Amino acid sequence: MRFGVLAETFGRMESTSKRLELTAYLVEMFRQTLPDVVARTVYLLQGKVRPDYEGVEPGVAEKMAMKAVAKSSGVSVREVDAQYKKCGDLGEAASVVLEEKTQTTFLVEEITVERVYDTLYRIAKLEGARSQNMKMKYVSSLLNDATPLEARFILKILLGTMRLGVAENTIMDALAEAYTGERSNRPFLEGAYNVSSDLGRVAETAARDGIVGIRSFRVAPFSPVRPMLAERVRSEEAAVEAMAGGSAEYKLDGERVQIHTDGTRTEIFSRRLERITDQYPDVVEAVPAMVKANRAILEAEAVAINPDTGAFLPFQDLMHRRRKHGIEKAVSEYPVSVNFFDVLYLDGQSYLDIPYTARRRALADAVVQGEMARLVPAIEVTSVESLADFVENSINAGGEGLMLKAADSVYRAGSRGKQWLKLKREYQDSVGDSLDLVVVGAFYGRGRRTGTYGTFLLAAYDDENDVFQSVCKVGTGFKDEDLDTLHQLLRDMTIPRCDPRVDSGMEPDVWFAPEMVIEVVASEITQSPVHRAAAGIVRKGTGLALRFPKFTGRVRDDKLAEDASTAQEVVALYRGQKKIS
Ligand code: ATP
Repeated sequence: MRFGVLAETFGRMESTSKRLELTAYLVEMFRQTLPDVVARTVYLLQGKVRPDYEGVEPGVAEKMAMKAVAKSSGVSVREVDAQYKKCGDLGEAASVVLEEKTQTTFLVEEITVERVYDTLYRIAKLEGARSQNMKMKYVSSLLNDATPLEARFILKILLGTMRLGVAENTIMDALAEAYTGERSNRPFLEGAYNVSSDLGRVAETAARDGIVGIRSFRVAPFSPVRPMLAERVRSEEAAVEAMAGGSAEYKLDGERVQIHTDGTRTEIFSRRLERITDQYPDVVEAVPAMVKANRAILEAEAVAINPDTGAFLPFQDLMHRRRKHGIEKAVSEYPVSVNFFDVLYLDGQSYLDIPYTARRRALADAVVQGEMARLVPAIEVTSVESLADFVENSINAGGEGLMLKAADSVYRAGSRGKQWLKLKREYQDSVGDSLDLVVVGAFYGRGRRTGTYGTFLLAAYDDENDVFQSVCKVGTGFKDEDLDTLHQLLRDMTIPRCDPRVDSGMEPDVWFAPEMVIEVVASEITQSPVHRAAAGIVRKGTGLALRFPKFTGRVRDDKLAEDASTAQEVVALYRGQKKIS
């Protein structure tokens, strides 16, 4: 298939932010795509070469890309650089300089999706001393044969700056329409995506086998399952009312790990489904002894422990393992316990549709408890008193509170609902709840903060409409180091205009792609004529906003933007606070 078909579609998509138009362009493109290239098409469309959890990224440096553009177009690196400064994007700059060149030369060969994909994949896989030269060779050879429009998107993918403003939901709408005949089949594709986290594989299944293939899509080791999440509950009384007969478990303060094994190989995925196997070599080594099944997917909270007493240590201690080098040292200094709380798959059978109580029994059978492996402590929810005792025990043991799980609840991958509730101490007194919000813009600082950002525009996620809605501006709680780090981290997310998925009542100095999540607390939630969170839900023409928001110091890099606090949660907090007062 011609790569030009993709490039033309991407070009059209860049000129609109309307979801319906974006979907229509995608449907048209998918209809021209054969099943054996559709997975590759979906990855490229998202600016990737493999699903995120594999961590395979082209990783080409700007300087090198500039050299390749210069080589292919016959102009100097300095000219490419000048054009880059003018356009602000190397992909666009490349299309301008190549445009001048193509007027004088013939294109030799039409490039295909297969060729672009294979080259980008090879580049991503290159390692070692000679890799830079090889990368340069590969990029130049593609650019030599690419049209200016094609070059523009090849470079964007290579540099990680592809931002067409399409969310996974929009892509799934288009796949449903193109391959199953009805956009209303999207929830089935979503279900398949939730248990595989691989949109390419979902797309290929839809293209080959239509809705029948999608409906029989199964969970399998090494494709991470999107985690089931909890809603908040404010008090023991409310918890007992909602969960009598269900279970309460310690909510431990560590890192959620999803362990996949087939008896010989083990992979570990984080809450946001990144492959973190390398951070836990000790766990990987212990898996064959602690899991009885041959093939399994289990969920646990990994918690750092004091090696002398076995007591749980705070979440921060675990963060020492987040490094590329020196992991052995971190592993011996910060040993962990693996506290199992769920089973999603055992020896060929999916456990997702099995009720919690039976899953917990299967989990107890599958895990061999020992020094490292434990089952998360659990009791049946019966009375307010026993629950209050259990909260106390959890907190004394270093936990954050409790997780409550309905006895008959199945595992709903990728969804936050009332089947799981979390009861944390902090929710019990006031509106001081923390929220995880997406940084969508920033305002330049004044005085001591000149030259960096002083305040940030934050948004909650409206997951029904797939929109990030502004909810406050925050400027307090930041240490100077925090501002430096944020400035650095946000550099790669800067975009020239408001992202199509962001609905903001304010115009910041700088816009960001909705990617980074930070934790804030606030004194109150109020109605706001400016901010857009839950607009029209509490009152027509009004949104909700946080009053006196403050950064807690925690960048939630374990969360994707789509995992941020939702507009619905903000509404619930607003209503809850009114009830209390
Ligand atoms: P938080 O910001 O409170 O960590 P979250 O958005 O990551 O929440 P929630 O579903 O709201 O996810 O809370 C559940 C989180 O608590 C899980 O992601 C997991 O890391 C952790 N956890 C600790 N103990 C348990 C347990 N027994 N069962 C499920 N999750 C647990």
